[in-house]
Amino acid sequence: MTITAEELAPPQKITWCTGCGNFGILAALKKAVMELDIPRHDYVLVSGIGCSGKTPHYINLNSFHTLHGRPIPVATGLRMANRDLRIIVHTGDGDCYAEGLGHFIHAARRNVDIAVFVHNNGVNALTKGQYSPSSPRGYVSKTSPPPPGAPMDPVNGVAHAIVAGATFVARGYAGDQKSLVGLMKEAITHRGFAVLDIIQPCVTWNRKLTWRYYNERIYRLEEDGHDPSDRIAALQRAMDSSERIPVGVFYRGEGPLLIEGLSVPEGRLRDHATDLKLLEEIIDRLRV
Ligand code: SF4
Repeated sequence: MTITAEELAPPQKITWCTGCGNFGILAALKKAVMELDIPRHDYVLVSGIGCSGKTPHYINLNSFHTLHGRPIPVATGLRMANRDLRIIVHTGDGDCYAEGLGHFIHAARRNVDIAVFVHNNGVNALTKGQYSPSSPRGYVSKTSPPPPGAPMDPVNGVAHAIVAGATFVARGYAGDQKSLVGLMKEAITHRGFAVLDIIQPCVTWNRKLTWRYYNERIYRLEEDGHDPSDRIAALQRAMDSSERIPVGVFYRGEGPLLIEGLSVPEGRLRDHATDLKLLEEIIDRLRV
């Protein structure tokens, strides 16, 4: 059952910039997949648009590269049709916290059984450095010149996920492989909507949120007395506006899945073309 590094080797040449945090995310993902006892054919990676969207191109697993902001709806459809799959969304802060934010919040409250890895670099990198929903207030870019720079506070994806009802919420750091691999494995095997916001420095466009910036501020929640079963405490940690940046598991809980109560059979929905009643049932569930 063990998956080897050779099996995961991509057929494509990697085009990320030298020093990009995405390399750390890809390395951790490969390690997590090799360490988990899950058949290779059960994985599906779904990505949106951005530098993060290239991740499925660089690891040899089933994948679906979708439109900007739309990987979560596609992943939701995959989950409804096949309970066997391990579905991992790779999305960026621009992709997920701008166009995709509505999908993100509703998938959390529906507790869709997927893992969402947000490559968070605080900038729209692929489109050459415009400020993104997670850029800090005052951040200077081509589209946010001074004064005042970025005129709003950033979207807090971790806090949104906790409030919306995600049952696993964590933050990782591309520069801490050991911890990131563990968080990925837990998110992938979690039963329910798992959010892993991953700090990922963009060395080409973001001159504020650098490797050094994060190395000087990050601390681990598990070493700071945080209880991840306490949702209110998780939200307080997520809302902490001090200069310190927590990583690790904010919240770990459980709740009913979107698919529960539907008459979807175990395993794959093979005969969906003729089972219109079941399809209507699924569509009704997704309307709310
Ligand atoms: Fe990475 Fe930024 Fe280069 Fe994109 S532009 S590959 S995020 S360093």
